[in-house]
Amino acid sequence: MITRRKLLRQLSSTPVIGSLFGAGFWSSSLFKSAEVKTKTRNLFEELGVTPVINASVTMTFLSGSLMRPEVMEAINSTSHDFANMHELQDKVGEKIAEMLQVEGAMVTSGAACAMVLGTAAAITGTDPEKIKTIPNLPGPRPEVIMQKSHRYVFDQAITTTGARIVEVEGPEEMEKAFNERTVMALFFNAAGKSSISHEQFVEIAKRHQVPSFIDAAADVPPVENLFKYQKIGFDLITFSGGKMIRGPQSAGLLYGRKDLIEAAKLNHSPHEAPIGRPMKVNKEEIFGMYAALKAYLELDHEKEWQEWLDRIDRIKTQLETVASVQGETNINPGPANAFPSLLLSWDQQKVRITPREVNKLLKDENPSIVTNVRRNEDRQDLLSVGVVLLRPDQVDYVADRIKSILSKAES
Ligand SMILES: *Cc1c(COP(=O)(O)O)cnc(C)c1O
Repeated sequence: MITRRKLLRQLSSTPVIGSLFGAGFWSSSLFKSAEVKTKTRNLFEELGVTPVINASVTMTFLSGSLMRPEVMEAINSTSHDFANMHELQDKVGEKIAEMLQVEGAMVTSGAACAMVLGTAAAITGTDPEKIKTIPNLPGPRPEVIMQKSHRYVFDQAITTTGARIVEVEGPEEMEKAFNERTVMALFFNAAGKSSISHEQFVEIAKRHQVPSFIDAAADVPPVENLFKYQKIGFDLITFSGGKMIRGPQSAGLLYGRKDLIEAAKLNHSPHEAPIGRPMKVNKEEIFGMYAALKAYLELDHEKEWQEWLDRIDRIKTQLETVASVQGETNINPGPANAFPSLLLSWDQQKVRITPREVNKLLKDENPSIVTNVRRNEDRQDLLSVGVVLLRPDQVDYVADRIKSILSKAES
């Protein structure tokens, strides 16, 4: 039997046939008759790693999102040459800034890194001594103002720089919180409630000449949110690269005021000493993040939304063939994860299994299917099936698997 490699070598040494490569040659019947096997290496299998179907939302522990084809193309096509990382970050940053209509931008290793770098920039400016010293600056700790109701797990990225968080409630308390140690004010966009509006927050910070930073990491769709907060006047903005923008999961965007972005770059790799050095982003991911953003901005968002609704319909129709099963489209109001999903309920006298049990059985399958259990106002559990992260070929598969579990429990 002739191997693919041997055949390739033989063919490419023949000038005429060699030049046929790429032009659909491999799918020709001539080639098929050579019975060449093209089994790609399966690293999931090789390492015994369970593949996961994400019928939920983007979660870092589930590897974020699947990178767009444009991102993989960017990664592969740029992996064959070296680049000067300063130049690459500058050029990509310029382009992203132009796309997002801001003065400056950079690619970070995720939104959490953007928070470290943004805070570091607010503390150090371009002072090399301070850049070398944080988080161990002499004297009292720099202060970052936050609303009490905005405190969240990710604010540890702020205190990583040595800063201390000062909690305020309402515009009056915010006014009084500024002093000579205040370096920044942080707004968590997806916080449940705010005692200070976006506009008030920006206005007060500006009056005290302190940069305002908004963390909107998971807040697309809608795509307009990528442009919204600079218009309100925030000095720094971050979005994750690996959530619905579907770039590399270890990339993110930091953008806004140029002087702050330049200071953030000084606090980042490829510089050798600063706080951001362990938060390196590789060359391919920087190119990949640019490609992801460009593809995301150029996407037909209405069409994508309709496709999500169609997926929900498709799954719902299949499942409603099981006695008493009812599906309902649920649109999360956001700002984080603002997209539709399918909520399933059934009469447990007719289908003798709980949503929690279905969720567990799906999770234990191989491939593992991750869904969620939601509780409604009547304190009734519902099975929530996310559709936005499914590959097109997984839609029917997920419907099929849920249907099989529910049918088996039919009494
Ligand atoms: C996901 C998330 C982060 C962290 O983003 P990474 O890109 O994973 O570093 C920070 N803040 C919020 C609100 C998030 O949702």
